[in-house]
Amino acid sequence: MTVWKEDAARDLVLNAGERLALLTRGEGSYVWDGDGKRHLDFLAGIAVNSLGHAHPAFIKAVSTQAATLAHVSNYFATPPQLELAARLKRLTGVGIDGRVYFSNSGAEANEAAFKLARLHGGAERPRILALENAFHGRTIGSLALTAKKAMREPFEPMPAGVEHIPATIEALEATIDDRVAAIIVEPIQGEAGVVELPEGYLAAARSLTLKHGALLIIDEIQTGAGRTGQWFGFNHEGITPDAITLAKGIGGGFPIGALVTFGAASSLFTPGSHGSTFGGNPLGTAVSNAVLTEIESAGLVENAAARGAQLREAIVNIDSPLVTGIRGRGLLIGIALAAPVATAVVAAAQDRGLIVNAANPSTVRIAPALTIGDAEIEEFQTLFAAALADVQASLAASEEDKANAS
Ligand code: PLP
Repeated sequence: MTVWKEDAARDLVLNAGERLALLTRGEGSYVWDGDGKRHLDFLAGIAVNSLGHAHPAFIKAVSTQAATLAHVSNYFATPPQLELAARLKRLTGVGIDGRVYFSNSGAEANEAAFKLARLHGGAERPRILALENAFHGRTIGSLALTAKKAMREPFEPMPAGVEHIPATIEALEATIDDRVAAIIVEPIQGEAGVVELPEGYLAAARSLTLKHGALLIIDEIQTGAGRTGQWFGFNHEGITPDAITLAKGIGGGFPIGALVTFGAASSLFTPGSHGSTFGGNPLGTAVSNAVLTEIESAGLVENAAARGAQLREAIVNIDSPLVTGIRGRGLLIGIALAAPVATAVVAAAQDRGLIVNAANPSTVRIAPALTIGDAEIEEFQTLFAAALADVQASLAASEEDKANAS
């Protein structure tokens, strides 16, 4: 075992499996490991590094703000914080009465959303609806919203009131009533394997929540910041939610999250009802301003849409019998496989110098930086085709072994 593996195995908490590599440096869509091997990073820290690695705008924002004012407390406002709140209000189209709460992660943004739902619901509306297969984070509140039993059960009891319903309009119609405080949904379920909501779901959820006086909360933590080819996933459906949660791509690698509230939902939090020491500090908000400014000025939302289409074509052109479908939008793509071999494909890709991830046993997820161009896509196509061929060859070899043995 190399030294770093021993160190990791001895010192890091045992919540994750063995680390795949020791990464030491990054630039654009590439990272290098401790052996000097270069990897094409098509995961981007799980949809986080919007501008890739070590982007000049990111470096400048971190270093300039660190040299100016890194942290105060929420007793004070700071210019980057106010600028980011105004920017998020403009980009989300939340309107003058919208408000922004800053957190440090996605889970914390969803904790704030959970509390928003409770404030809205009070004793009259104890029910909160979330979807089967949903992933909303690992803190206790966000975990209560997360569907996967294996993640939840060791930590039960969960906060009361959350029900997971199938992601169909019929299930929502059948379940919602006037005792529902809120429904929370991801426009595309990233962790579940890049699974889109059924056609018209968000519009139906909007009209049903309005009818029953419930909040519609959209978790844009993985889909936001331009990743799907629009600023936010809900923009594809032309609806206005009551709140959205953000993290990942808005910081481009700096830990920051946000809850953006629309309309009447903006007056639910009152002084003392929620808070965070680090949330919205000048360093994090300055970096997020720089990342979002670059996404906007370099046309990276449009790039995500165009490169997403190009990538789909590249995957189809590989013409592998292992690939049975492509899901997702823009640069959040799930590649459906004919067999539960996603882990093997990911390992073969890594051997060849390509980082992708297994979102579920038969889906490979790619979520590259929004900055990718022709060169990265061509290289991805070559490496991914080779990884698929490797796995196909080993599947064929084991079939042959089985045939010989019988
Ligand atoms: N919500 C969604 C849709 C996510 O994809 C994630 C992370 O993968 C989270 C919430 C949790 O975010 P974090 O890991 O920053 O707490």
